[in-house]
Amino acid sequence: MNTRRKFLKDTAFATLGIGLSHHLSLAQTFNPSGTNLVSQTANPWIELSANAYLKNVQLISKMAQNKPIMAVLKNNAYGLGDVQVAQILDQSAHIAGFALVKDERCLALRGNGVSKPILLMGDFNEDLGMDLVNNAIALSAFSLESSNKIKKLASESNKEVLVELYVDTGLGRMGMPYSKGIGWIKELVATPNVKITGLFSTLTTPEDFARTQIQRFSNIIGQLKDNGILPSRLHMAPSLSLLDLPESHFNTVRPGILLHGTYPLSKMDQAKNVPLQPTYRLKATVIRMEKLRKGDTIGFSRFYKVEADEWIATLPIGWADGYYSGAENGAKVLINDTLYKVVNVNASHCNLSIGPEKSVVVGDTATLIGPDRPEITPEGFGKLAGGHNYLQIQYKESIPKFVHDEFL
Ligand SMILES: *Cc1c(COP(=O)(O)O)cnc(C)c1O
Repeated sequence: MNTRRKFLKDTAFATLGIGLSHHLSLAQTFNPSGTNLVSQTANPWIELSANAYLKNVQLISKMAQNKPIMAVLKNNAYGLGDVQVAQILDQSAHIAGFALVKDERCLALRGNGVSKPILLMGDFNEDLGMDLVNNAIALSAFSLESSNKIKKLASESNKEVLVELYVDTGLGRMGMPYSKGIGWIKELVATPNVKITGLFSTLTTPEDFARTQIQRFSNIIGQLKDNGILPSRLHMAPSLSLLDLPESHFNTVRPGILLHGTYPLSKMDQAKNVPLQPTYRLKATVIRMEKLRKGDTIGFSRFYKVEADEWIATLPIGWADGYYSGAENGAKVLINDTLYKVVNVNASHCNLSIGPEKSVVVGDTATLIGPDRPEITPEGFGKLAGGHNYLQIQYKESIPKFVHDEFL
């Protein structure tokens, strides 16, 4: 099997969570001949910088007075590869563990050698219950039903079931409503084979209400203390509160988007103050270059009208791959040190205006998102595209991920 095919196969397996080496998949491992295999692909790809991730979590922990981090890798680590990102962060002393919302993805992390604690913040399929216990995945008790499911599992298991208590302090979506008191927790604690490893909640964004939630959370901790119950891990702060609200840090913080060097919505300007680095590059190869004439149009809806003869490049990435369609409102793409404007995005392709000179050729590599220029960082892109920077939440799992020690 040639190296390129082997890499794609491994990547596909990692995505499915089928057991594989847990070593960092360094790009050069798959490129022994030194040829640029990546840029030959007709499909877009993502490059991750292990170094950028490790530096970011060091800074994030520092922002939280050196508290450890439960790294939220839900939704395939916001489209960037949950297994790949977990394998990188598994090496960091600042990472307490990983939090995901799908049972199968928790197992995929373990199956790929991730050794730190893993928390399932969502429900689990009963068929997978024993697998989760055997892989030391902490389950969330977030309702009476889920609590009963956990008790049943504990009665059938000969191993301890790790459990974190998920309390709803006001999100209204997940967790046991705090108004229900702690009776359900006492019952869980008294269940043989159940080991409570944490207590957590989810904050909302309005600061005054977040403060109310913090009080409710503290109140529950107080009641548990009075009953001699002391879950070791206490956490409720996502990225926004991590930056904004030190009272919400408790003994562990729980960011998602910050890990990738991207700032939560209203904090997009913090990029200037807190030097996190974007951890990834989204890339694609130019597959078509044609000169369009004045009056020509691009797209099914004839969205873009050519005002004067110009070269138009086509990239094989569109909104079905998770590239934000609003990019056609003015986002830029970097090719050979020059920024070009995105003029149309459809399901599978996007087009760039290159100008009157043919300064780009088929086979050139384009960087759509990356740390290289302010215009193409997630924040810069968000601003130009008239959107926000949680957009990478959508990158499709099928986009291959290449892990590098650091960006070249
Ligand atoms: C998504 C999520 C987070 C992380 O949110 P960010 O804004 O990406 O930091 C934390 N906790 C829960 C329960 C989440 O669903």
